[in-house]
Formats: sequence, structure tokens, C-alpha cells
Amino acid sequence: MVESASQNLRGRITIATSQPIVFCKDIHLSAHIIDGRAAAERLRRRVAEHTAGLKPQGLIPGLAVVLVGEDPASQIYVGSKTRQATEAGIRHFDHRLPATTSTAELIALVRNLNANPEVHGILVQLPLPAGVDSAAVLATIDPEKDVDGFHAMNAGRLALGEPATVPCTPLGCLILIREVMSDMAGKRALVIGRSNIVGKPMAQLLLQNDCTVTIAHSKTRDLPALCAEAEILVAAVGRPRSIEGGWIRPGAVVIDVGINRIDDGSGKSKVVGDVDYATAVTRAGAITPVPGGVGPMTIACLLLNTVNAAIRQRLGTNAETLRI
Ligand code: NAD
Repeated sequence: MVESASQNLRGRITIATSQPIVFCKDIHLSAHIIDGRAAAERLRRRVAEHTAGLKPQGLIPGLAVVLVGEDPASQIYVGSKTRQATEAGIRHFDHRLPATTSTAELIALVRNLNANPEVHGILVQLPLPAGVDSAAVLATIDPEKDVDGFHAMNAGRLALGEPATVPCTPLGCLILIREVMSDMAGKRALVIGRSNIVGKPMAQLLLQNDCTVTIAHSKTRDLPALCAEAEILVAAVGRPRSIEGGWIRPGAVVIDVGINRIDDGSGKSKVVGDVDYATAVTRAGAITPVPGGVGPMTIACLLLNTVNAAIRQRLGTNAETLRI
């Protein structure tokens, strides 16, 4: 159930409901705040319960994490992933390599991990250092162990509507949309951004859920007009607060994928989304905050993908997996 906070023009009140708030003529309400931290915690708990149930069958899901170089942000991400994997009962195999590692060495490592039956998921932390052929490394990952869902085989399966491992961030977005909108059929959805890891798979997921999907990108004309139509808006742009609140259709479900570090005015940095939250929250029906929205879902979905990869590899492709 989503926590909701609502506000009228004269003061703050709080109500609890799982439905998007209806706008009245003289009372302007603000959006449900979709609590990504709570949703991620629920998903992690389900994954942990499922993993515990697999143990008596001798199956311990295994995740190999490959980190190349010293990028501080990547080190933090990898630390969070391995810690949360352990908490969910997933065994992790860490491979920390120097920035001088060659493409050939990485490909050799991935081939070894492909052949290791204790490893069910392989995560190569991006970005890889300049000079490494990232596409060649990712293409070497066995599609069944591709828990990031970046392999062309999984992207293709997703586009064809076949069973696929779905990239973690758009999968997390879909779960959050479902928290406030159980039936998406016929809804007008706008995805802003066309990257292979967020925008394109997000559009495919919305299409699978019977939305009428528009994809906007850096060459799109009149983005405000497209936003004004969108009942579901997913922003994955990488430009801080670039989606203005006034563009948003009243009552829309707004999912903000952006993670942008900006100066907070006092010399310190803070993280903001792609959506101008302060103005959007007064028009949207439901909105994810940044931080605390999509971000926590990404790792939770990685754990989900790892457990399901382990089930399929050990028990067969028709085995019952953990569904969202
Ligand atoms: P990207 O740079 O690969 O893609 C950005 C997309 O935005 C491009 O397709 C581009 O065409 C589009 N774009 C750029 N300027 C635009 C404009 N003016 N109007 C419309 N579209 C425009 O980025 P990405 O990897 O897809 O990530 C997007 C954002 O999401 C970033 O802030 C990133 O940090 C964040 N992100 C968050 C998570 C998470 O876990 N929450 C995961 C991945 C990415």
C-alpha cells in the first residue's frame, strides 16, 4: 500500500488511500508520494523468503560482481549490491580488477563465470574504463546469467514479448506504477529517454501492459505538449529538474528515474531527479521522490532477477519463478 500525503491550500492533512487523488474545483491536492524504499524492502523480503525456501533443495543463488577500476560511485553501488545480496541469502563472488584490465582479460573472466555452476547471475558494473570494449564484454555474458538484462538476447526477447530478463531499473519502475495503477490498459504513457538500459525497455514494459506509448528523446519537439497528454510519465533524461511541474497532466503517475548531483547553494551537493519535484507534486496524482523512489528498486530487482535466474538454471525454464 502506498503512503499518501495530501495538502489543501490552507494547510496540511494526511490521508491514506491507494488510489490516485481526484482533483476538486476548489481544493488543490498534492500527489501520493510513492515510497520506493518501502516497496524495495517488501520485494527484498519476498526474495529472501524465496531464497530460504530454495535452500533445502540445495540451491543457493549465486551472483558474480565484476568491478573494474576505482570509480567511487561504482564502488558504492557494488558495496550496496553485495550487502543486500547477502541479506537476501544470495551468495556473491566478487571480482575487483585494476583499471588496466584489458577487454580480453575481462572476456576470459566472464567465460569462466559462465561455466561456473555456482554462479547464476553475472553483473559487470558499468561504466567500464575507457579503452575496454564494454559491448564485447556484455555480449559474452551467457543470456541466462545476464541478470542486468542488457544482453541483446534479452532485449530482443523483451521486444518480442517472450520471457526475458528485464533490466532492473525499468522493472522497478513498473512495480512502482502498479502500486498506484493496477490496470494500465489504454493509458497514454510517455517515456522521456531512449537509452538501452532504461528508456527502451521501459517503453516495452508499458507496451506489454497495454499502454499507448510515446518515447521522447533529445530531438523531440514540443515535449511539454507530450507531457500534457501523458497519464503515466517516466523521466529518464539525466538533466536535473528539466521536466517542469506545469507540463504535467493533472493526476498523472510520474516516475522519476533521474539521479543528478547538483550544488545545493551552500557549496554542498545533493541529489535531485529529472522532474522538478516541488512543482510536479502539486499536479501529479502520484510521484516518486528522488532520492527514495526508483533508486532503491533497482537493486531489489537485481536480487529478484538473480533468484529467478538460479531457479531457471537449476530447475528448468518452466520452473515456477518469483513473480512481481
Ligand atoms: P542516458 O544518458 O543513456 O540517456 C538519456 C536519454 O535522455 C537519451 O535517450 C536522450 O535522448 C534523452 N534526452 C536528453 N536530453 C533530452 C531532452 N532535452 N529532452 C528529451 N530527452 C532528452 O541516461 P540513462 O542511463 O537512461 O539514465 C537517465 C537518468 O536515469 C540519469 O540521471 C541516470 O543517472 C538515471 N538512472 C537511474 C537509475 C536508478 O537506479 N534510479 C538507473 C539508471 C539510470
